[in-house]
Amino acid sequence: MLNPAPAARRALPSVDKLLNQSDVADLVSRFGRPLVVEMIRALLDQERAKFDQDRASCFDEALFVSRCATTLARETARSLKPVFNLTGTVLHTNLGRAVMPQIAADAVMQAMTRPVNLEFDLDGGTRGERDSHIERWLIKLTGAEAAAVVNNNAAAVYLVLNTLGLKKDVLVSRGELIEIGGAFRIPDIMSRAGCKLREVGTTNRTHLKDYAEALGPRTGAIMKVHASNYSIQGFTAAVAEPDLAKLARERGVPFIVDLGSGMLVDLQEYGLPHEPTPRETLAHGADIVTFSGDKLLGGPQAGLIVGRQELIQRVKKNPMKRALRVDKMTLAALEAVLQLYSNPARLKEELPTLRALTRPLRDIEEQAARVMGRIASAIGPALGVQVIACASQIGSGSLPVDSLPSAGIAVEHPGKAKGSQAQRIAGAFRALPCPVIGRIKDGAFVMDLRCLDDEAAFVVQLAQLKL
Ligand SMILES: *Cc1c(COP(=O)(O)O)cnc(C)c1O
Repeated sequence: MLNPAPAARRALPSVDKLLNQSDVADLVSRFGRPLVVEMIRALLDQERAKFDQDRASCFDEALFVSRCATTLARETARSLKPVFNLTGTVLHTNLGRAVMPQIAADAVMQAMTRPVNLEFDLDGGTRGERDSHIERWLIKLTGAEAAAVVNNNAAAVYLVLNTLGLKKDVLVSRGELIEIGGAFRIPDIMSRAGCKLREVGTTNRTHLKDYAEALGPRTGAIMKVHASNYSIQGFTAAVAEPDLAKLARERGVPFIVDLGSGMLVDLQEYGLPHEPTPRETLAHGADIVTFSGDKLLGGPQAGLIVGRQELIQRVKKNPMKRALRVDKMTLAALEAVLQLYSNPARLKEELPTLRALTRPLRDIEEQAARVMGRIASAIGPALGVQVIACASQIGSGSLPVDSLPSAGIAVEHPGKAKGSQAQRIAGAFRALPCPVIGRIKDGAFVMDLRCLDDEAAFVVQLAQLKL
């Protein structure tokens, strides 16, 4: 008697035959031939394995082609995509930090799709400098003599140290030897930049005389790092910037300050906790200040370096500047965002980061009351849904002790094993077409609504929630 398996196997169509089928031809024009061929081969292998397991199974060509289509659609879906940041952390590094205004997106679009005068001086018709597009704004907004821009603030710190402190000692207080996360540790950056870290003072207290005693012929710079993601409380002492600046000037070494976030305007004017500005720090006598473009500033990922003309010139001449330079899209977005700062009265409306940070609690509470019913009806009676008070964080290392009162929605399973149920609920929200990212707190899945800008889009997709 004939063994049924080989016969059944013979019933599987060839790749070429499938490619000639009209539905498959459509897939080829949509996804491209290589991907379709790869997918057909992989799925045919699965069919063969199925026959080996179950010799009675048969091949359904229409089903096969539709599986090809859905798998291809899933595998070619964009990997980088929009999400709803309902974590309560406004500047969330893992969720892309600052959300930028539309005018920045428009400027980027122009720079992407058309030739631009990136390094071209339109007046003289000669070669220009790429940083010049944003340097004029940074000078206006910080009072610095000159400015440069690199890929991120970690690169800015690295480049400044490598330029001013190569093969020399750089003095830093022990209380400021911080790790920012993502492997950015001040001591590591220093050694990679070719500087020798000279620690001064103690973790909780550092005095001017500690710096003065450590200063010597091998000193390349004094550096101060804004302790952005933690705070030391209790019996503490740090040296004020003006005093450090004076000491540095007397001994003829540059005074560098890494501000981390570095907001360009005084946040207190917007009812938020104070965050040091580059203008203040320069006025205190700093020679160079570095800060991020995508933290409180609300722009693209970038590292901004402002300060004295002569030092910035040296930074720009460092060959590593070329390796760390930003592209035209970053410059386009940064120019558009910096320009918004020329009108502080409108900043709160125009800049999404500041808009989210200053959003009135009443407004968030009203939104919570509105969406609460929609969430409850999408979820059904099995889970508890309620409006709760939240405490939003600014994020990205700024102001770790201050939080902003906010409101949100908590979804929780009433029974036992709350923790794993909360994980399951979080997974269902993440699986939505525009994934919703919240937080798990006390066995509940919590969504802080401070950053929910597109409420309609959020509500519409709730119908697809699969719990
Ligand atoms: C965030 C931060 C950095 C790193 O900045 P990136 O722009 O993320 O590279 C460096 N120093 C301080 C003090 C920071 O807060």
